[in-house]
Amino acid sequence: CGIVGYIGKRDAVPLLLEGLARLEYRGYDSAGVAVTGKSGGIRTVKAKGRVRELEAQVPKRFSGTTGIAHTRWATHGAPSDENAHPHQDTSGDVAVVHNGIIDNAGDLRARLTAEGVGFASETDTEVLAHLIGLSDADTLEGKVREALSRVDGTYGIAVLHAAFPDRIVVARNGSPVVLGLGDNEMFVASDVAALVRHTRQVVTLDDGEMATLQAGSYRTFTTEGSRTASAPTTIEWDA
Ligand code: GLU
Repeated sequence: CGIVGYIGKRDAVPLLLEGLARLEYRGYDSAGVAVTGKSGGIRTVKAKGRVRELEAQVPKRFSGTTGIAHTRWATHGAPSDENAHPHQDTSGDVAVVHNGIIDNAGDLRARLTAEGVGFASETDTEVLAHLIGLSDADTLEGKVREALSRVDGTYGIAVLHAAFPDRIVVARNGSPVVLGLGDNEMFVASDVAALVRHTRQVVTLDDGEMATLQAGSYRTFTTEGSRTASAPTTIEWDA
């Protein structure tokens, strides 16, 4: 239902939680957050219920300068801690938040299960985390592209990978994704309401578009890999 991401120099956690709170008006049943920790690995906290309840469960030393967060409106699997996003692959190196519905998730889950992959949730989203984790592509963009080529359905996604701690990769097909450009920091959200407090320079992705966010730069391309023009626009209205 709602996506927020941050990469920069500040602690992502309070920024992400505040962004989620600004998306609460859309409705949701659970929430979660993932950060790339100082020592490299990805850590997640997720909980059924309100953003306030998620906040209460975030440990004291849970911080990082890169992170993604989500408010979920369940379509596949009941509202629960396990079904809340972010979802991870078996290694725990990948974290994915997703808005939308993967139509062929049942089929992909059956295939992955036959290959020995264990699932931690009932969501359609988790197949994406495993497909990204299993991809042989050299780059995170390549891994995400390969995973997306196997799914049918709608998505706005944001992806973290422990082996690529300097970036967030996002993609859009039928579910909004907006980049917020800051000063040596970048935001991403499913709705400008979550980022307009931090920046008014935005890039709205089109369907079939992906983007890489790094602290000091961003680039957009199609899900086939060719670069796209992405001139930012300035939000003039008061949020
Ligand atoms: N289909 C996903 C799920 O049920 C995402 C739902 C959403 O957009 O929040 O977990």
